[in-house]
Amino acid sequence: MSGGPDNPMIDGFGRRISYVRLSVTDRCDLRCRYCMAEQMVFLPKPDILTLEELAILGELFIARGVTRIRLTGGEPLVRRGIETLIARLSERIDDGLDELTLTTNGTQLARFAPLLAQAGVRRVNVSLDSRDPERFRHITRRGDLAQVLGGIGAAKAAGLRIKINMVALKGLNEDEIADMLAWCAGEGHDLTLIETMPLGDVEGDRTDHYLPLDGVKRALDQRFALIPSLMRTGGPARYWDVAGAGIRLGLITPLTNNFCAGCNRIRVAATGTVYGCLGHDQKVELRDLLRAGGTAAVSEALDRLLSGKPERHRFDIAAASPATARHMSVTGG
Ligand code: SAM
Ligand code: SF4
Repeated sequence: MSGGPDNPMIDGFGRRISYVRLSVTDRCDLRCRYCMAEQMVFLPKPDILTLEELAILGELFIARGVTRIRLTGGEPLVRRGIETLIARLSERIDDGLDELTLTTNGTQLARFAPLLAQAGVRRVNVSLDSRDPERFRHITRRGDLAQVLGGIGAAKAAGLRIKINMVALKGLNEDEIADMLAWCAGEGHDLTLIETMPLGDVEGDRTDHYLPLDGVKRALDQRFALIPSLMRTGGPARYWDVAGAGIRLGLITPLTNNFCAGCNRIRVAATGTVYGCLGHDQKVELRDLLRAGGTAAVSEALDRLLSGKPERHRFDIAAASPATARHMSVTGG
């Protein structure tokens, strides 16, 4: 492709949108405590975009200059037929798309890793909040650690680069964080630590487990030589190279550090609702427009979203109610 897209997506603050997180389902086989309620009610199937609609949307984003697409959920690998969407979007890798990737809980990775590698996916983010089987089950309310570790092993064997996502939880896994980094260093995986974000009603008081990462970082500095990295992805993470290990540590600190000025992303929920910001309800609805068959109307709706995309989020962990009522499983983080 020569030159840039004819109609790039630029928001009202001059930020160019090059990255889309595409949630392909709100369903999940786990119920992580910080993410979902135990008795989570999922959306009726007709409310969710079909795989064909997701593919059309993905192609429209690529036509408008999006170079990176991350599939997420819910759990993307529990969406039936997901391999057809992966195959279709992967045809655009190196033809408009620089990267197709996904965030997964790893439960289905053993089955999918070879297919992902073959499709041209080069790396995956896998969520892993504990390497202790009982704790893992407690945090996820039902997960089997061995299954997830098996999936991570299969992904590594298939040649995929792996980043572990670990939500830092006071009193639940904070004593495991340094060991997790050491394990990642040994395995050659990057590690990103995430502060809990106040999204959606999850039953229980989330402030109980909120762990600010500045203190975590100071503790890690005692055990590892962490060298600030210049890498920026336009997202909320800051990075450090772990000296001698060839891996990177990322910290996602939405509550303690503002990252919005360089924001390059929008988020598409599985219903076709597109959000300009993780922490706001500003949105446009694309599903009915897609079903009416008009990509021009979809593109116009995206322009409306961009002109109103908020300058920054307004998260507050101490607030009585979440910044937005929707769960992370709606927009995929
Ligand atoms: N099911 C997949 C997974 O767990 O990786 C993809 C979707 S999940 C919503 C994406 C990421 O968001 C995961 O790394 C998860 O730990 C994180 N997450 C979910 N709820 C969160 C919250 N309230 N605060 C911070 N991170 C959260
Ligand atoms: Fe499912 Fe991922 Fe949410 Fe856990 S964080 S409940 S694996 S969507």
